[in-house]
Amino acid sequence: MGHQSSDLTNNVVARRIRAERSEPIGERRRSVARRSNLPRTGDGFVATSWLLATTFIILGCGGFGLTATSTPTLTLEPTRTVSSSLTPFQPVPFTPTFLPTETFTPSPTFTPTSTLTPTITSTPEFIFQGPGDITVPILLYHHIGYSLKDSEFYVSPDAFESQMNYLYTRGYRTISVEQLTQAIHFGAQLPSRPILLTFDDGSETVYADALPIMQQYGFTGTAYIVYNFIGAARYMNKIQIRALYEAGWEIGSHSVSHQNLTTRPGKQEEEIVKSRQRLESYLEVPIRSFAYPFGAYDSDSLKFVKFAGYTSAMGLGDKSVQGKENIYYLYRHSITAEATLESFIQILPWKP
Ligand SMILES: [Zn+2]
Repeated sequence: MGHQSSDLTNNVVARRIRAERSEPIGERRRSVARRSNLPRTGDGFVATSWLLATTFIILGCGGFGLTATSTPTLTLEPTRTVSSSLTPFQPVPFTPTFLPTETFTPSPTFTPTSTLTPTITSTPEFIFQGPGDITVPILLYHHIGYSLKDSEFYVSPDAFESQMNYLYTRGYRTISVEQLTQAIHFGAQLPSRPILLTFDDGSETVYADALPIMQQYGFTGTAYIVYNFIGAARYMNKIQIRALYEAGWEIGSHSVSHQNLTTRPGKQEEEIVKSRQRLESYLEVPIRSFAYPFGAYDSDSLKFVKFAGYTSAMGLGDKSVQGKENIYYLYRHSITAEATLESFIQILPWKP
C-alpha cells in the first residue's frame, strides 16, 4: 500500500534515527500527552473495561432502583384522573441493545454530538447475509495524525473523529475480516450496515489515536503489521499491538519487509508465508489475513497466500461488494489526508 515510499527501507536503525530527527518536539509532546492517558498493557485495558462495565452496571441498576422506589403512592395529590385503576409505574425492562463486539465498553467520555439523531439507522439489526457476495465497505488508513511532509497517508484525528461519528450515527457497525470470510463462505448474521476498518503498516498512531477514538463508538479494526517495522520509531511495539488484540482487534500480516511482491521473485515465500509464522510466534496472536504491500500481487503471491493458510487477503479498489471471487483480493477504499467528509460519504454504500 501507499507509504512515504522511499523512506521505508529495511534498515530500521536508519529509519529510527531519521524519524527521531524529524519529529518535532510539539508533535512528540502532543502524542506523549495523548498516550499518557492510556494504559500501556493489555491488563490495563481489561481493568479499564471492567471498571467501565462495572460503572455502567451500577448506574444502570441504580437507575432502575430509583424508578422502582418512585412508585406513585396514595400520598400524591388526588385529582379527578386518579382512579382505582391507577397502576404503579413499571420500569421499562432492560433490553440489551446491539453490541457490535464483545469488547464494546460504554465510555463515560462519549458525548453524542448534535449530529447524533435517533433514526432507524442508529439501531442496526443483525441480518443474515451470504453466502456469496456481501456489501461491506472496507476502509484503509495508515497514520492518524499530522504529517510534517504533507503526506497523504496521515488523516488528522479531527477528520478521523468526524468520519467515525458519521459512520456510527448512520448505523454502520464494524465487523472483523473473519466475520466477512465466514459470511462469504457460509453466510452469517451481520449488522445491517457492516463496515471494516483496516490500518496498514503498524503506525504507532493506530494505538495512540485511532484506538481511543474508535472505542468511543464501540468500533474495532484490523491492523496489518510489517514484521520488520515492529518496535521501530513511530511504529507499534509488541505490547501496543497486543493491546489492540486484547481490545478486540484483529492482527494481520503486511509482509516481512514491505516490498512490492511483484518485483521480488524468489522472495514471496518469505514475505507471505514466513511473515505469518514470525508474527504469530512473536506477537502470540492468530494471523489469518494478509495485505499486499502497495496492493500489488501476481499469480505467485496468490499461490503463497493460499499455501500459508490465510483465509483472506486485502487489496485495493473502489468497490464495496466482496465475494468468493475476490476473497484473496478484497477491495479497500484508501482514506487519505485530502478526504473531506463529503468525499468520505460518497464512497459509502448506504447514506444518509
Ligand atoms: Zn503498506
